[in-house]
Amino acid sequence: MKTYGLIGYPLSHSFSKGFFTKKFEEEHIAGHQYETFPIPAITEFPALLAQHPDLCGLNVTIPYKEQVIPYLDELSDAASQIGAVNCIRFKDGKKKGFNTDVIGFRDSLQPLLQPHHHKALVLGTGGAAKAVMYALQEINIDYLVASRTPANGTVAYHSLDQATMETYTLIINTTPLGMYPNVDACPDIPYEYITSRHLLYDLVYNPAETLFLQKGAAQGAVIKNGHEMLILQAEASWDIWNA
Ligand code: NAP
Repeated sequence: MKTYGLIGYPLSHSFSKGFFTKKFEEEHIAGHQYETFPIPAITEFPALLAQHPDLCGLNVTIPYKEQVIPYLDELSDAASQIGAVNCIRFKDGKKKGFNTDVIGFRDSLQPLLQPHHHKALVLGTGGAAKAVMYALQEINIDYLVASRTPANGTVAYHSLDQATMETYTLIINTTPLGMYPNVDACPDIPYEYITSRHLLYDLVYNPAETLFLQKGAAQGAVIKNGHEMLILQAEASWDIWNA
């Protein structure tokens, strides 16, 4: 039996377990299982590996995406630059960390890009924002980052004026604002300057249409939620484990 799994804590609901269990069934991939491993502290990671010598790959979620790094032998360029790992491959006796959020975001965004989408406004500065920025660099899109506590080149929300909104026609929400159950919240940007030239991308996928996306759509913008990104980052893990 080949075992894959997810480490994090707590792990009440896991998208990944549901995704891979269904994938193994639907694609008739026999002899594979996907388990959740809720470890209360990252110091339990070596013992977990010792208990499961059959592990072929792991996903990593909150709160261990950064904490797991000292336990790994190698990092991909993306994981190293972002400083967060959400996928671990066990190969040739080595544990290598990857960041597949980059792949999921990039590959779900690219089909929607028009030639005028060459400047992006990234809302938020957390781990997801770092993956988004890495992907934007890969595809040569300049970006400006908005933060509640602007520093090191990031800007304040109240400084987003008409000229900025007209220049940055790709707007990406990487904050948790609007996520269920707080569906009445949205990033504090001047939505009145959004037009049909804009593409609004929300990493949040529950609800399918956040208030951020609703407000963009009301102005005629093209909108995209984070559901495809979630699927593509899981598929990217599978590809990495089987490379
Ligand atoms: P996080 O670290 O908790 O927050 C991201 C950033 O959002 C923070 O660094 C903060 O930036 C800003 N922020 C947080 N609370 C805010 C508030 N109340 N008002 C305004 N800004 C706020 O989260 P994350 O791990 O980066 O994830 C962010 C979101 O992306 C989550 O909703 C997560 O579910 C989603 N996500 C989706 C996918 C996918 O596959 N679709 C993958 C990864 C993450 P500042 O302090 O600089 O303002």
